Amino acid sequence: MDKFASALAARPDWIGEAEWKARLELAACYRLFAHLGWTELIFNHITVRAPDDGSGQRRYLINPFGLHYSDVTASNLVKVGLDGEPVHATPYSVNRAGFVIHSAIHGAVAQAHCIMHVHTTAGMAVACKEAGLGTDNFYSAQLAGDVAYHDYEGVTTRTEEQAHLVASLGDRHCLILRNHGLLAWEESVPNAFFLMWTLNRACEIQLAAASIPGPNRAVTPQAITDSLHRKHRSVDPKGGLQQKVFDAMVRKAGIDSYEMLV
Ligand SMILES: [Zn+2]
Repeated sequence: MDKFASALAARPDWIGEAEWKARLELAACYRLFAHLGWTELIFNHITVRAPDDGSGQRRYLINPFGLHYSDVTASNLVKVGLDGEPVHATPYSVNRAGFVIHSAIHGAVAQAHCIMHVHTTAGMAVACKEAGLGTDNFYSAQLAGDVAYHDYEGVTTRTEEQAHLVASLGDRHCLILRNHGLLAWEESVPNAFFLMWTLNRACEIQLAAASIPGPNRAVTPQAITDSLHRKHRSVDPKGGLQQKVFDAMVRKAGIDSYEMLV
């Protein structure tokens, strides 16, 4: 059965069905992040490209500024244009720092359906290190060659930084914002979640290993090649694995029915 079925009747008239489903999935993702503790007061963002609404404009959905992730619903998500301005009536505004980062990537990367940015402690700690993320733990080895870096330019509120962000990201899916935090994008919400989880977990393990005296055991290049996240993703090109992970974790976050997210 369509997992969204229980919530379809609650769709407001001004939101199309495809957008309503995108909103439900994104709201579930916000609740999952809250469950995992991947929150920073009312800051940080997860965004999803809005389905074509006939405007001919690239638009995306973002959290209303001022609400905790645990208060995000399908209805209160804000649809904005690449200029960060809401395209519908809403009592909420959008955090400028979120607009600068997410608009830049949604605008420049056609495949970037979902973009996630977090300030987890492990992610911020690794972002502070000159060497960045290694490739010598189970998860960081999976991301070898898929992590880009962007130098810190202060709080991301200047649109001039957008071109720099896009250039720093290049064709990679993970971006470590130096001295700041983590970012990941993918073609779907479940894929982006699984990638961000892997990236954050890689940082957690690196942080834990660094607290134990002595060097890390080296990993062979062949072992890294055999570990690559992209390679494993291609084994399941429809993202079935990532969907299973996402659905299980949304249930774990207490969302038994999408009706809870309207
Ligand atoms: Zn940030």
